[in-house]
Amino acid sequence: MPKVHFVWDIHYRCNFRCPYCWFDKNWEQMETHNRNLSLTDMIAVWKRIYDRHGECHIAITGGEPSIYPYFIDLIEELSKMHTIKVTSQLSGDYYTFARRINPERVNLDMNFHPLEAKIEPFIRKVLALKNKGFRGGVCYLAYPPQMDKIDFYRQEFEKHGIGFALAAFWGEWQGKNYPAAYTAEEKKMMAPYLGDVDRMNYHLEGRKTKGKLCRSGQLYASIKADGTVTRCGPLSHKPIGNLFDDNFKLFDTPMPCEAEICPCDEYVWIVDEDRAK
Ligand code: SF4
Ligand code: SF4
Repeated sequence: MPKVHFVWDIHYRCNFRCPYCWFDKNWEQMETHNRNLSLTDMIAVWKRIYDRHGECHIAITGGEPSIYPYFIDLIEELSKMHTIKVTSQLSGDYYTFARRINPERVNLDMNFHPLEAKIEPFIRKVLALKNKGFRGGVCYLAYPPQMDKIDFYRQEFEKHGIGFALAAFWGEWQGKNYPAAYTAEEKKMMAPYLGDVDRMNYHLEGRKTKGKLCRSGQLYASIKADGTVTRCGPLSHKPIGNLFDDNFKLFDTPMPCEAEICPCDEYVWIVDEDRAK
């Protein structure tokens, strides 16, 4: 049985206020969804998942995970059962994290937000983590007002041996809808830093996915801070259960996609022969 992957919005709280954030201007309302389980109870929840599905991969995001209460203790315990990826802007205590956490079990997606963070301390933390054996590169959002700085930041990271990737902006800026509004020249410039061809098609072209057979909900699921589980981000309005329920269960088989498009990386769960269509 292939490993089950979860994406978990551990909480909706952040000490940054990026204008392009999904939650911008909505933080107060989002924070009402946070559930404050004790460390012991939270570990018990993930032990139940371990007993049902074996070792899973948990991609932890938020909000900013590193400001979650008992964050380092939790990662230390969860990583004994499951492998973990943390997406973070690195504002938390990553020096203690680097000392205590096993890089064989945990990797990092490090997001640099130039409107909220300074590059020198950010690079220092990345290098401290790399020195302890943590893998993972830095991701920068191709947000229209900060696109002219892409080359500068790419060079800064690369000269310290830090991998650099871009994410496409999904949203509206100056009356234009992105990613459709990227010019051909911008797409060409971004292509080498976006990843594979599929990623280009689904990220930049918004390829239609409705009806395609997909393993999200079976081998992959998205968890909100209140425990609500959905197949994926685009189907976040259609819960399939709650992580904190004793009887929570994933689908037994792949199911047809019910969304028009799949704007993030979740298209990888489309069953191979349907993905090519
Ligand atoms: S760091 Fe991430 S979660 Fe926090 S405001 Fe920026 S985009 Fe949103
Ligand atoms: S293709 Fe994307 S949107 Fe559709 S079910 Fe799969 S993950 Fe969800």
